[in-house]
Amino acid sequence: MTEIQLSLLNFPHREILSTIFNDFSNDFEFTADGVFRKITPPLCPDCRFPMSHNGFNTYRKCHLGEVNIGRYLCGACGKSIEEDRTFWDNLKTGFFNILTEICLRLRHNHSSYELVEEIMSFIYPRDKDTVRIMVQSAIEELKVPAVQNIQLVHYDEQHPKAGRNQKYRLTLMDSVSRQIIADELFDSKDAATIEDFLRRNLDTQKQIFVVTDLYRGYSEIFKRVFGNKVTHQLCLLHLNKLIVNDFPRKPSIEQELIKYKLLNIFYNRELEIDYLSCLMDEEKVMLQKSDKEYKVWIKDAKHLFHEFVHNLELKRRREGKNLELRTYYDALKNFKNLLGKIDSFEAAVRRRLMKIRELWPKLTAFYLVDDAPATNNALENYYSTSLKTHRKKQLEETGIKDQMKISALKRAGIFGRPQRTLLDAFFMFIPFIDTG
Ligand SMILES: [Zn+2]
Repeated sequence: MTEIQLSLLNFPHREILSTIFNDFSNDFEFTADGVFRKITPPLCPDCRFPMSHNGFNTYRKCHLGEVNIGRYLCGACGKSIEEDRTFWDNLKTGFFNILTEICLRLRHNHSSYELVEEIMSFIYPRDKDTVRIMVQSAIEELKVPAVQNIQLVHYDEQHPKAGRNQKYRLTLMDSVSRQIIADELFDSKDAATIEDFLRRNLDTQKQIFVVTDLYRGYSEIFKRVFGNKVTHQLCLLHLNKLIVNDFPRKPSIEQELIKYKLLNIFYNRELEIDYLSCLMDEEKVMLQKSDKEYKVWIKDAKHLFHEFVHNLELKRRREGKNLELRTYYDALKNFKNLLGKIDSFEAAVRRRLMKIRELWPKLTAFYLVDDAPATNNALENYYSTSLKTHRKKQLEETGIKDQMKISALKRAGIFGRPQRTLLDAFFMFIPFIDTG
């Protein structure tokens, strides 16, 4: 334990000082003048002659304080050395690490570097370029832990713009732990890029279940990468979005009913269908009347229906439930019913039904695998919290990468509760506060 010469000035700080110097042996002293040095000067490293105390060097950190580090001089050969000041560096690191943690959280919540600079001016002034360096070097150092035993995987893409350049963000998420397996930014999303991304980040020798959207020919890429070890699921919520887009923006009640019958294949929409069936009977009557009367009526009818749907949503949310996913048997039955009436539907609906028939094995793969997800909802949620592509202000490429990495770290639980506060770290500087 370091000898602390208590003076009137540092007497109140003996506890802090003894915490700081706990690691040092009894060979050291912290003098009443605030000099940190060995009580007995060391031997000269060059000529082994006993050295003598020779003043000190002062180290300052703006707003925090200053410390005097003892110097030693060799009377024989004139060599001058300085005592080790690791403890001082550690105190500074302790303080700035917490400051960095604060900046990381602000960045995670989409604060601009300008805003972080503004907030820092109330805490410990740092300009935005310094903050940027702090954040980025912290991100470099933190490692996202690898996800073990990957079997059920979500794959999705985002297309953020970096200034004027189109970028492609490819992401893999583990379905069970909801942790990010890989999240990378590319200039292209051609087949070779996706293939390389998958090979680098997944074990291609193991059985794997992957959920994707319906847009592209992922199947062929998966075949090349995983051979027959892959089970490919198409996201059912994405299918539902496509179904909704098959219909005009202002549909008749009859069209709305057909839309819900399609949505009803995989999810239970019986209540909405019942409601719309009643309205459709009214619609038949209203269509006999004048155009104007019909328009007034359908506006009201749609308003009532949207309110009904909204209330169902609220009820589900209150009860913490999702839309009820159908059993395989019910889904098949509903689909076959619609397919049987295919000639009575409009072209877009007929095309959609044929597409569902073609993709049926990939839409229903999840029924055959325990705990397998039917949608990419988890990854969509992750995207919506980590990077909003619709943000008015475009990010630079580094900004996009920051967001991706910080979100993955957050997801992996790297940001726990703080071990100590900024004030805790600041209190350690009290014995060294620059009073001049
Ligand atoms: Zn010497």
